[in-house]
Amino acid sequence: MAGPANIGGSRILLRKLREIMEAGGEAQQRLDRLVTMVASTMVADVCSIYLTRGAFHELFATQGLKPEAVHRTRLRKGEGLVGLVAETAQPLNIADAPHHERFSYRPETGEDPYNSFLGVPIVRSERTFGVLVVQNRVARVYGEDEVEALQTIAMVLAEMVASGAFGDLSGLADVEARPSRPELIVGRSFSDGLAIGTAVLHEPHAPLGRVIADDPVREEQRLDAALEQVRGSLKEMIEGDPGRLSGVSREVLETFLMLALDPSWEVRLKHGVRAGLSADAAVERVRGEHRAKLNAARDQYLRERLHDLEDLDNRLLRSLAGVDANSAGAMPADAILIARELGPAELLDYGAERLRGVALEEGAATAHAAIVARALGLPLVGLLPGLLSRVEAGDSIVLDGERGEVRLRPEEQVLSTYRQRLSLRSARDAEFAKLRDQPAITRDGQRVALLLNAGLALDVHHLADAGAEGIGLFRTEFQFMVSETLPRLQSQTLLYRDVLETAGDMPVTFRTLDLGGDKVLPYVTAEREENPALGWRAVRIGLDRPALLRYQLRALISAASGRWLRVMFPLVTTCAEFDAARALVDRELEWARTHARAVPAKVEVGVMVEAPALAWAIPDLAGRADFISIGTNDLMQYFFAADRGNPRVWDRYDILSPSALRFLLRIREDADAANIPVSICGEAAGRPLEALAFTALGFRRLSMPASGVGPVKRLILSLDAQEAAQAVRGMLTAQTETIRAELTHFANERGYLL
Ligand code: PEP
Ligand code: MG
Repeated sequence: MAGPANIGGSRILLRKLREIMEAGGEAQQRLDRLVTMVASTMVADVCSIYLTRGAFHELFATQGLKPEAVHRTRLRKGEGLVGLVAETAQPLNIADAPHHERFSYRPETGEDPYNSFLGVPIVRSERTFGVLVVQNRVARVYGEDEVEALQTIAMVLAEMVASGAFGDLSGLADVEARPSRPELIVGRSFSDGLAIGTAVLHEPHAPLGRVIADDPVREEQRLDAALEQVRGSLKEMIEGDPGRLSGVSREVLETFLMLALDPSWEVRLKHGVRAGLSADAAVERVRGEHRAKLNAARDQYLRERLHDLEDLDNRLLRSLAGVDANSAGAMPADAILIARELGPAELLDYGAERLRGVALEEGAATAHAAIVARALGLPLVGLLPGLLSRVEAGDSIVLDGERGEVRLRPEEQVLSTYRQRLSLRSARDAEFAKLRDQPAITRDGQRVALLLNAGLALDVHHLADAGAEGIGLFRTEFQFMVSETLPRLQSQTLLYRDVLETAGDMPVTFRTLDLGGDKVLPYVTAEREENPALGWRAVRIGLDRPALLRYQLRALISAASGRWLRVMFPLVTTCAEFDAARALVDRELEWARTHARAVPAKVEVGVMVEAPALAWAIPDLAGRADFISIGTNDLMQYFFAADRGNPRVWDRYDILSPSALRFLLRIREDADAANIPVSICGEAAGRPLEALAFTALGFRRLSMPASGVGPVKRLILSLDAQEAAQAVRGMLTAQTETIRAELTHFANERGYLL
């Protein structure tokens, strides 16, 4: 075969492509010339371009097939070998096409004599909108160089179609080469909030109009500069601040750097540039190769390395686009980050300064990025099908973390509705800010302590802004989840000390590791369980394998030296379990004393009521537990037998049902009788209507996400606790599934601010 087997050949091919493009003339003529040129350069009997129009792949140009088939031959999506290439977005290279099971015979094309077939997708920004094909009479498999050459042509072609180079071609308007219409994608909200902004792709693309190099020498210089920048910033990260919150361990960064210094990576990149591609296009092509390998790889280790390589490709592309590889240098000030999936460390690297929100094609409520987003106060919407292929960098976006949806390229009317909603929200926030330093006291003088649920040191910094009186639940497992290796004693101690110091005089309740169930650690291989929520989790792991728990208690005790330490255990089912856990605290205190370490001035040990069995054993906890905190997220999932993470059932039952409220009332009464302070710390405590019900049931300590403090405080200030108690008690005997409507009506009537 001629040319493309070598770099010189590729360059000639790209030059010819450019000449055709720049020669002008009618669009159809240029397409025709293009297929003729490709067929002759690649010594192919046939070269055809199919573009996807609506539900069909339509033949737009051909050299070798019958000319009358152009615009007449239309293959349904998924039909034939062309359909297969488009569907998989992968090249198909076969010697005996007519006998392939997906071959679809179209007599009008006259393709009978051709045996070998090479098809590559025409794809841009994850959007496949056509297929480029070469065919030959002789039955043979095409060489790697030929596949690569055809892919390069397809890449340029994709670019030309997307940038409107064939603007006047009939039928092209229906080819969705780049998204342009307003679209709504419905996903799920993983972090509340509302944002209007500009799309920034975490996995960027070569910019439009920059695929073929104008000046290959300059492109190589650009590539060198970007490589140097990426390597330099990795080195800087390794040598820089080791205690960064992102938890990216030194080893991980070192592996990264090693890959970045790997000459074979550089060789592949240079190969593309020397073949006439722009530096950006060369990187994008190498990333495509890594991605294809990643999709095919089974081995976990290999997959991780390929993932790292893809990450490096992305850094390089960002660097070429003039964006610093680590920080958010050239990001617009209203960036909405778009990614398939995002690690917590990556999100922390972007920082909250220029980010308005995050949209993920995948993601999960418990995903660590969601946790970080909440801590940063950013809305995050995930599970958005097809997001990456439907959004372009620079698109305007509305991110609706209240409803869990995104609007791409919205019309002005939609935008203005959202602007109104945004300004309502900020007016509301300003109102809450005014209440910040005011204690939450009902109109009839009942004081309700509002506390914060936290999990990262970042959250603790919001303590004062939020207007809370302390931290009612510090989820210690987050540090373990956002870290890439098991946090050592030292880093645990540092975090806890930092939290206590930031909280100052305000109380902090640390919950010991709550792992298992949906909370898995990337570096601990867990046994697959049929029913993880009912499985080996939380304190059950802690008691069976006490080393980890004891280390954690040691870190807590050391961090709280001379101060007040409050610890509680998650998912305790029996009093005996609580006793065993408490004994570990005593043992660690003893250890500290015998080793002459400073100990806390005061230690209180509490328990979370999350298992119904323990909820019925409160009287037995008298004199044993110093406090109780009701975790309604778990307690309700067990009470209603409905998985809290399963979208089909998680909101099927209402905590505001008479049965659940009677259950909670019983716990509160038992706790009072046993003289144990009790609080509620599930998400429900942060919703005004639920908080109203809980206050009416006699609860005086509520712990909630930061976003709940303002609204709940406003409610508490507006209500009469005694009047509410009477009303709610009256509703507890109602024969309804929920008192939500009735309670809302009552609150509105009484002027309570929900
Ligand atoms: C709960 O279960 O209500 C709770 C507060 O704990 P988590 O959500 O961390 O399981
Ligand atoms: Mg829980």
